[in-house]
Amino acid sequence: MEKMPMTSITSGMGIEVLPDVFCLSVQIVNICFIGNPKETNEFVLIDAGMPGSADLIINEAKKRFGENAKATNIVLTHGHFDHVGAIHDLIKEWDVPVYAHSLEAPFLTGKSDYPPPNPEVEGLVAKMSPMFPRHSIDISTHLQLLQDDGIVPPLKDWRFIHTPGHTPGHISLFRDRDSALVVGDAFTTVEQESLYDVMTQKQEMHGPPAYFTTDWKAASESVKKLEALKPTVAISGHGLPMADDELTTDLRKLAETFDEKEIPENQK
Ligand SMILES: [Zn+2]
Ligand SMILES: [Zn+2]
Repeated sequence: MEKMPMTSITSGMGIEVLPDVFCLSVQIVNICFIGNPKETNEFVLIDAGMPGSADLIINEAKKRFGENAKATNIVLTHGHFDHVGAIHDLIKEWDVPVYAHSLEAPFLTGKSDYPPPNPEVEGLVAKMSPMFPRHSIDISTHLQLLQDDGIVPPLKDWRFIHTPGHTPGHISLFRDRDSALVVGDAFTTVEQESLYDVMTQKQEMHGPPAYFTTDWKAASESVKKLEALKPTVAISGHGLPMADDELTTDLRKLAETFDEKEIPENQK
């Protein structure tokens, strides 16, 4: 695998992680296009970026897949505002099914809001977190629920791993053929609570964004589950993609020290 750039990442910057896996940074969050532009103008979109980012996403898709670029499906790792921000506009543009885990459905059908964030977590971003939107969106007209068999209908050679903790229906996506992992927020590769680290994208593996994580025991189990898969490349929702030895070492360390280091004091 070619070395990926380790410089800071700016909004709209994309990294071709694999020939058919493209990671696009949308302000503070990453989305993925799954599809090989040498073979097709169609792709599956993983997550839907920040509010107001639909034009950026559509334009980047056109740059990669040509003028007739079209998402055939959208798959959500979970329903937090930074992962569903542009979903209504994208549904309007492409009119496609949106897949998510059944336990995430209440937050995607207007039935329940996410619980308030925990602002006692250290760091500036955490202090800002009470301002983050956490209300349920309603995409019930396009929502398709994933069942507990790992199958993601639009992604034949991938399977979903249920990785709850950050949210109840959080999923990650794994491809056995090359051990590629799309993490979502099950772990991050930048310290999400520190504004400085988020701005400079300082590379450092951590647990899920703490201010929004509700079940730390489940979050810990989820990291162990992902570590056991021995991914060779991982794209997290926040931070730069990681690969090879650095990923293996950091993920092992994260799994081993999660309970001691990642769980906020007031949640232990
Ligand atoms: Zn999240
Ligand atoms: Zn996130």
